[in-house]
Amino acid sequence: MSKLKIAIQKSGRLSEKSLELLKECGIKLSNSDRKLKTEAKNFPIEVLFLRDDDIPQYVEQGVADIGFIGENEVWEKEKNVLTIEKLGFANCKLSLAIPKDENYTGLFYFKNKKIATSYPKILRKFFDEKEINVEIEEIGGSVEIATGIGLANAIFDIVSTGSTLIMNGLKEVEVVTKSEAVLISNKNLVAEKQRIIEKLLFRIRAVKNSAENKYILLNAPNSAISRISSIIPGMKSPTVLPLAIEGWSSIHSVVKEDEFWDIIDQLKALGAQGILVIPIEKMVL
Ligand code: ATP
Ligand code: MG
Repeated sequence: MSKLKIAIQKSGRLSEKSLELLKECGIKLSNSDRKLKTEAKNFPIEVLFLRDDDIPQYVEQGVADIGFIGENEVWEKEKNVLTIEKLGFANCKLSLAIPKDENYTGLFYFKNKKIATSYPKILRKFFDEKEINVEIEEIGGSVEIATGIGLANAIFDIVSTGSTLIMNGLKEVEVVTKSEAVLISNKNLVAEKQRIIEKLLFRIRAVKNSAENKYILLNAPNSAISRISSIIPGMKSPTVLPLAIEGWSSIHSVVKEDEFWDIIDQLKALGAQGILVIPIEKMVL
């Protein structure tokens, strides 16, 4: 049986999370000391550890069948690959920043200005669409120092918290796009490899769902069951179990993590007590 070759970043901001995701999918690697490649003991995959810049090209060429990579690299490299799933980590913005004391007047501020970046194609496309002429200075790294050393008037780079910008006397003035890690695939895979991808995707989705959802248990008077059920409908319907005290029930359901704080007041107003919220290990819809 052939193995699916999966490319992940050797070391950097994607690599830990990529390995963690494989682990949460129940995939055990023979060794994870990140030589060039390793195999899984209990799943038909082989892991290749590469520089992230090279992953789109290697997936296009079929050196790797699939890869975990930042969307920003997929857009910049413009390789002929399929993006098949968002992975929910390595979330960042690609933003324009200028020296903090400059007066920002909107996108036309950048007209005929020099912008330093490691993402020239994404930036060129953005300004071409706006029909604004800019001069793009491509540099490999440490983009944030480009204005300080007089190389450019502005920068276009990855921003997460913005602290790097502040440390370099810059301010973010435009978010051009947002990126996260994605699963990309070669376009011409044999059916056997497609099937392995389907199995892997099934597991990845179960892991992602579990991260986004919580198990909720609460006690409520029986008179409130139907209204509470409509607030926390769960996957099919909530489980309702009678308590030993007459007239009360325990209600179990699943809630989205980011909706939890919005619904908690409604639940309390309906008489819910003893509310417990518990992480879910895996979730298959
Ligand atoms: P390599 O040596 O493999 O070329 P690199 O230095 O190009 O690594 P990293 O800094 O490790 O790349 O970033 C890898 C990816 O992680 C980026 O392309 C981006 O998608 C994402 N990323 C980068 N910085 C951040 C951040 N501060 N927060 C969240 N995600 C980020
Ligand atoms: Mg890189």
